[in-house]
Amino acid sequence: MLQYPVELPHEAVHLFHDDETGLRAVVAIHSTALGPAIGGCRVQRYASESDATRDALRLSEAMTYKNALAGLDFGGGKAVIMLPDDGAFDRPKLFAAFGRCVQSLCGRFVTAEDAGSTVADMQAVARTTPHVAGLPQRANGLGGDPSPWTARGVFLAMRAAVAEQGGGGLDGAVVGVQGLGHVGMVLADLLNGAGAKLLVSDIDETRVAHAVARFGAERVAPDKIVTAPMDILAPCALGGAIDTTTVHRVQARLICGGANNQLAHPALGLELARRGILYAPDYLVNAGGIIAVCAEYRGGDVAAIEAKVADIGPRLVATMRAADQHGGTPNLLVDRQARRIVAEGWSRRRAA
Ligand code: NAD
Repeated sequence: MLQYPVELPHEAVHLFHDDETGLRAVVAIHSTALGPAIGGCRVQRYASESDATRDALRLSEAMTYKNALAGLDFGGGKAVIMLPDDGAFDRPKLFAAFGRCVQSLCGRFVTAEDAGSTVADMQAVARTTPHVAGLPQRANGLGGDPSPWTARGVFLAMRAAVAEQGGGGLDGAVVGVQGLGHVGMVLADLLNGAGAKLLVSDIDETRVAHAVARFGAERVAPDKIVTAPMDILAPCALGGAIDTTTVHRVQARLICGGANNQLAHPALGLELARRGILYAPDYLVNAGGIIAVCAEYRGGDVAAIEAKVADIGPRLVATMRAADQHGGTPNLLVDRQARRIVAEGWSRRRAA
């Protein structure tokens, strides 16, 4: 399972078991070149520990690049908790046990929410470690669920990309939102406010019904949403929306969403570009949440978060222009840029 193909190898992978609570977790620390590794805690069912580890490896690598590109003084890591098969587990105890695992890493890894975890879960983590963010919002506006920041960054990126492509605004654009969770539902709300016509999909029917009632959205079956006729696709579920099959059948002209690792493999960006589809690199556009989490952990302020999130659109446009001028795809361009920033981080640390 450690044969996972990466450009930069991981610094450490930790597997944790706790018999009392049923916790089985993986913490992958991809890089601490720029600072302590930070990344959310994904909670879902996995068929095996190898699957969970592979997910943690890939997600933590993306966190390194996301944090580097967003100009954060943090490295990349990710935690994955294998949801116990037995639904009767004690959730606060499980997360407190996970907090002890984070604490054992002595600040080399800081965690927060990701798909499947909540503010209440992070409160349970905070009982056993201070290396956690995404805690209830404070009076100064820091903290709370970071997902609305993620959704806002994606929305601003989408709007900027549409304008750069000469498409005017989002008013009247048909946008497909795959996954109506913490990020997808807020994004749908923002898009609805901007006049977009929404196609929505989720494996949870209550969320679909909510979006249909609230936004007048049209429901699309989960196996049809990626390839349905639309202007813009916003993957906001789990990874791999674009794989070797869907890459040939996507009809949207722009892919811009909140999900991590939307491409099953980075090379699929080449096929999208060949087909004239702009793929907005996932970790460039979905950095809003981690920007907010880092500010909370280090004690920043909301104005600084707003400024950094507002910069996501212009950074995407700069990437689109660089891809046009020098060739290459936006995702491979930002991969190179992020690796350069990480390499410079290592050089600085070695020189210090
Ligand atoms: P979430 O668990 O709240 O929502 C995910 C939603 O996707 C759920 O409603 C789920 O039912 C749905 N879903 C799962 N499989 C699906 C499928 N095949 N088709 C349609 N819907 C499906 O998670 P979230 O926090 O909203 O995160 C969504 C994605 O964004 C994840 O990939 C996450 O890693 C990424 N992300 C989240 C944040 C954040 O701030 N929460 C930040 C950066 C990236």
